[in-house]
Amino acid sequence: MNTTPCKRIVLSGSDGCRVSYCEDCRVAEIEVGALSLRLEVHAFNTLADVLQEAAAKLAAFNAARADYEREVGSQHVH
Ligand SMILES: [Zn+2]
Repeated sequence: MNTTPCKRIVLSGSDGCRVSYCEDCRVAEIEVGALSLRLEVHAFNTLADVLQEAAAKLAAFNAARADYEREVGSQHVH
């Protein structure tokens, strides 16, 4: 029985929002508050791609909305 604790390295973040990696298990662990999600590397990479795309689209969405509101704001006096 292997009782050696996992040797995890922190990839990014700090307390409250952190990603660490265990080379022995080849598992990435995402910790957000009380939630912790363990993912094998392939699943982690997929999630990273999805999050990156979502973040980019959210930024584009917010930028487009800011432009729209600026246009509307310049046409109407409240
Ligand atoms: Zn481990």
